[in-house]
Amino acid sequence: IPVRGVEGQKMAVLGLGRSGLSAARALRAGGAEVLPWDDNEAARAAAEAEGFVPVEPTRAGALDGVASLIVSPGIPHLYPGPNRAIAAAWAAGVPVDNDIGLFFRSLATPDWDSFDVAPKVIAVTGSNGKSTTSALIHHVLEHCGRPSQLAGNIGRGVLDIDPPGEGGAVVLELSSYQTDLARALTPDIAVFTNLSPDHLDRHGGRGGYFAAKRRLFAEGGPDRAIIGVDEDEGMFLANQLAEGAADDRVIRISSGQKLAGPGWLVFARKGFLSEWRKGRQVASIDLRAIAGLPGAHNHQNACAAYAAARCLGIGPKQIEEALGSFAGLPHRSQLVAEADGVRFVNDSKATNAASAAMALAAFPKIRWICGGLEKEGGLAPLLPHLGHVAKAYVIGREAAAFALHLKDAPHEVCTTMETAVARAADEALPGEVVLLAPAAASFDQYDSFERRGEDFIARVQARLGV
Ligand code: ADP
Repeated sequence: IPVRGVEGQKMAVLGLGRSGLSAARALRAGGAEVLPWDDNEAARAAAEAEGFVPVEPTRAGALDGVASLIVSPGIPHLYPGPNRAIAAAWAAGVPVDNDIGLFFRSLATPDWDSFDVAPKVIAVTGSNGKSTTSALIHHVLEHCGRPSQLAGNIGRGVLDIDPPGEGGAVVLELSSYQTDLARALTPDIAVFTNLSPDHLDRHGGRGGYFAAKRRLFAEGGPDRAIIGVDEDEGMFLANQLAEGAADDRVIRISSGQKLAGPGWLVFARKGFLSEWRKGRQVASIDLRAIAGLPGAHNHQNACAAYAAARCLGIGPKQIEEALGSFAGLPHRSQLVAEADGVRFVNDSKATNAASAAMALAAFPKIRWICGGLEKEGGLAPLLPHLGHVAKAYVIGREAAAFALHLKDAPHEVCTTMETAVARAADEALPGEVVLLAPAAASFDQYDSFERRGEDFIARVQARLGV
């Protein structure tokens, strides 16, 4: 979809991965002169194959007359090192933005020709559960007959979507790497799932990280804010947004707490989701039997999706039905196989301690495959859940060092996925779950968490002969 308001302007694009390339195309379609760059030669070649001419933004004069520098989410702000592009743009007074900002700015143009009818935009951010919540909202909307497009961090560049049409919605998953630079962030509905320490290095600690996510709620803010209040930051944000606002502006959600008060509340406890308004219960849904949403963390995601659908006027019964048919996302609590009473679950996306803790909490008896590239913050959040772990099977190049965090918990250093799956499958008893929830990044052994999850699946299938 062509970006509006850029005709005849010079626009520099830094980073030519999926979102960068889609931004470059959308800018060109909107009549801009695009100056694209990526340090990676193959990425530049891909852009050249589409007729773009790369221009290195740090070259003297390269930013002269440039209206904006569009930056991909993966690029560190101090790229490349403390000496340039973004810093140079700021120094030269060139605004820095990204594809998300371009999308919202275009959407604010009343006659953005790509959209006959402006869609409702639902943006989802938070430390964990963004993808699941976004996919779940999208699933519920489609199930209820509302046209929906899913984009953002979850895979599709937002400038690559098809306009959803009458009554439609765009569900946008936004990481802090996207919210921090977007110059316009004006969703109709914004969701904040939770906050845990991850990516702290980029944003200057927990405060900066929260600030990046919170930009979604700044200045006027969304009409509706759905906020997880299980951490102090969410509680603070909810209270602040509710101050002096209409009583349906903020929906507080929780997994585990019975929320009380006169506001709009959606919480899950003991497997049941409840909606309360003005001190009265409006609806209750049994989440326990939904195979695609195991565990308290997924019940938090269900609360967020339920609340978003309610904001769009969908009734509780319809939402209940839609939730029931959600199949889950690959690599997030994904049931891979079941044999002799042992379930094999792939949660390769549990790349930090907080998300792995949720996975451990979701199953009572676990053969736990963990390890990889350690994240800042250590394993402290998951230590309380080690009681569910019959034994840990540690993978990763530094498996022995990783295993030290497990203290007295029974464990074995396996290093490779093949060994870990074989050992865990050998020792698992009926009723137990062999769970890949690494609590670490994958890059020491794999290109991505997806490859790691696929390796797990392949080893399990080979082992079981399925
Ligand atoms: P994100 O897109 O924010 O990374 P995902 O939906 O991909 O979130 O889930 C990432 C991991 O976090 C999953 O592996 C799962 O174990 C865990 N998780 C999912 N939802 C939540 C939640 N609401 N709270 C905490 N952890 C969660």
